Amino acid sequence: MKKLFITICSLFALGSAHAQNLETNFVCTYGEGATPDLLCMQMQRSFSGGTDANEATKKILRVLGLAPNFIMVPCPNIDNCAAVTLNDGFRYIVYDKEFMQNISNTASNDWTSTSILAHEIGHHLQGHTLRRTDNEESRKMELEADRFSGFVLQKLGANLRDAQAAMNALPHPSDDDSYSSHPAKWKRLNAIKEGWNDAAGIVNQPESTPQPEKTTKIDVASLDVEVSDATTLKTHDIIQSDDFPILKDSWNAGYNYKAAVYDYNHWYVFMRKGFGGWQAYRRREHFPKDEIKELWDKNNSVISSLDYYNNEWSLTMTSFNDKFIQQRWATDSKFPAEKIKESWDEGYYITEATFGENTWAIIFNKTNNYEQFTDQMYNRYDEFPKDAIKEYWDKGWFITTLKHLNGQWFLVMTKYADRNANNYQQRWNKTTEFPMDKVLKNDNEGLQLQCVTYGDGFWVTVMEKWR
Ligand SMILES: [Zn+2]
Repeated sequence: MKKLFITICSLFALGSAHAQNLETNFVCTYGEGATPDLLCMQMQRSFSGGTDANEATKKILRVLGLAPNFIMVPCPNIDNCAAVTLNDGFRYIVYDKEFMQNISNTASNDWTSTSILAHEIGHHLQGHTLRRTDNEESRKMELEADRFSGFVLQKLGANLRDAQAAMNALPHPSDDDSYSSHPAKWKRLNAIKEGWNDAAGIVNQPESTPQPEKTTKIDVASLDVEVSDATTLKTHDIIQSDDFPILKDSWNAGYNYKAAVYDYNHWYVFMRKGFGGWQAYRRREHFPKDEIKELWDKNNSVISSLDYYNNEWSLTMTSFNDKFIQQRWATDSKFPAEKIKESWDEGYYITEATFGENTWAIIFNKTNNYEQFTDQMYNRYDEFPKDAIKEYWDKGWFITTLKHLNGQWFLVMTKYADRNANNYQQRWNKTTEFPMDKVLKNDNEGLQLQCVTYGDGFWVTVMEKWR
């Protein structure tokens, strides 16, 4: 108690003793954007006890066993939160109340402010505010601070989604972070997860641990190694194999399952970097509704791919930490046009479709964060629908899925709230041979696989890139 008293006293004293000649040393902000200005800090610099930010900071420091010796400075209009040192040697956390409130509102989550403050405290405690850095080092520091916030939030009792809620609510930055001080969002979410897992005593990576089995089929991940041939590109790993390949090495190397094709005698599995988080892969004789339910409930993951090859359903469920997704599926022996219409009316849009066991299976998502769908079309074509793709591309819509199903090309194109020709690029390729050279070329240009299909004697890939 005595110690706390002294600390507070010295902070009060600071408010008047160091009124002049202050200079900012180093600043670490939560997101890209404005840094706090010195004038505001000089005006506002005081230990204003009792504010929410103060309470949250105290809570964080309590789990770390540290005294609350940060100076909280509210500065409006910076639209950010920052860890700052001045040449007075004190540690400041400068925050924009409105920014904190907006993030909390966007995320509909009470933990956001705590995690942002934990991130800033992480910068201070790890010495990041003591030296200037270049972008590369800055990105590394950001991940360290993110990791720290994940750790602290777990200790405070937040679940992983809570711990990541603030980051999720930050505007969507580019996947290419080469020129920015802050890393791509998926990396930051991953760092938070690592910290959270670390605090929870969960070993990080690989997260491809097979789930307990309930059905008679065994998990692919537990099969013995098959002879397979992996081609590793910049952001893809393409595995070719007679039998379904083991994904573990690729998972461990940071790739995630994106899509696979079975061309009646050979598997081609496309693994993609920076795509989703935790994954589970299942192959089942019948439509895997129990597995879907279990993984929805237990792992907070959603269907990211569903196919039917070689008399089996092939299901991948992925956790998208940076998206809040509600998902549903519909199956029908007739094409489920009515169910699609009903789902559209309720704000759900097609994200995946397949045909197997004489049954159509359509997966729908509803997102309330970024990546919102605003309109959608689908159609089935006897000929490859290149004119339809062009027509909708020209209107600013993009391919969501394109597959050869039940003897026809099934195309779904969507208008997205945050995508346009300026920030997002899409390409398709159609070839008679496996399109390794096309994928390689696109991969080199920074495009990543979105969907792939084989039918009617053709390979079709769709690749995408956020600019
Ligand atoms: Zn930061």
